[in-house]
Amino acid sequence: MSTAKLTINLDALATNWRNLDALTTCETAAVVKANGYGLDAGRVGQALAKAGARNFFVAAAEEGVALRRAIGAGPGISVFSGHMEGDSKLLREFQLTPMLNSLDQMLRHFEVLPGHSFGVQLDTGMNRLGMEAAEWAAVRDIALGQQPVLLMSHLACADEPNHPMNAQQLQTFIELTNGLDVPRSLAATGGLLLGRNYHFDLCRPGIGLYGGLPFSDGLPVVQLDLPVIQTRDLDVGETVGYGNAWTAARPSRIATVAAGYADGLHRALGAGEIGVFAGQTRCPVVGRVSMDLITVDITDLADTPDHLTILDEQQTVDMLADAAGTIGYELLTSLGARYARSYTG
Ligand SMILES: *Cc1c(COP(=O)(O)O)cnc(C)c1O
Repeated sequence: MSTAKLTINLDALATNWRNLDALTTCETAAVVKANGYGLDAGRVGQALAKAGARNFFVAAAEEGVALRRAIGAGPGISVFSGHMEGDSKLLREFQLTPMLNSLDQMLRHFEVLPGHSFGVQLDTGMNRLGMEAAEWAAVRDIALGQQPVLLMSHLACADEPNHPMNAQQLQTFIELTNGLDVPRSLAATGGLLLGRNYHFDLCRPGIGLYGGLPFSDGLPVVQLDLPVIQTRDLDVGETVGYGNAWTAARPSRIATVAAGYADGLHRALGAGEIGVFAGQTRCPVVGRVSMDLITVDITDLADTPDHLTILDEQQTVDMLADAAGTIGYELLTSLGARYARSYTG
């Protein structure tokens, strides 16, 4: 093994989808934007379609094209960014359903692709995407006349179950959509976990599928093994890495492993309390994370391992993200292109 190895467990992914689905009585879709949270939307989409997912969401039409090529005709693919200028051909050719975000998008859609399936995204307070109440009131009857397949909105604070914003957005969503006889969707992973009131007709989890919080019962989906390139023995007082950031306080054995911030292992990890694992044994990361390399104190190991594991069930994406001052979403989507990727299941 000369490059770091990223193993993606598609069985765990499918189990996470099934377990989330089991928490609802409505349909459970799957969000595979940003190339399936960095894990390959095609592979992820195929595995989830096999597990039973019938509807997928992506951020942009181009992502929808790649997904359609991977999963074939049949499953629904919806596009959060709606119908942007230049998207029409892709939406039509690859049977993608835009979630229309504005009057402009709606006019474009009805003019260029009349009769083509669409949904409407409503803003219930996040102020990011979707039509606000006044805009929706003005176009609602026209939209309903063209038979939208979904009315959706997105929660800003769903990962904090007690945040008053949740109930407030729920109330607004109900006011904007009640009695319209169109399928509705409000919940991503966090909203799904808030309970039935938030489920409506379709939930659309993303991060929970990939083993990330707030789905604390999720199985880890990724494992990352870093090959040991070289080891050396240090005397007391010798230093390691850029800026002499770490000093040996005892005679120490240091292993240099092949991955760094260019591979999505943020430089900020060097300042955290991060370890890497030789089996069950934790070895502390010492010194700064460099572009392609990380240094590890393996003094307490009896033997030099051929690799050390930085991500697995012992150290999850959220633990690693936390140490870098970010969230699991960012860590996953930053995992680099240099890894030898393998898919199990
Ligand atoms: C990213 C996203 C989701 C999925 O969110 P998770 O927190 O990853 O479950 C759902 N809906 C919208 C609109 C999104 O942008």
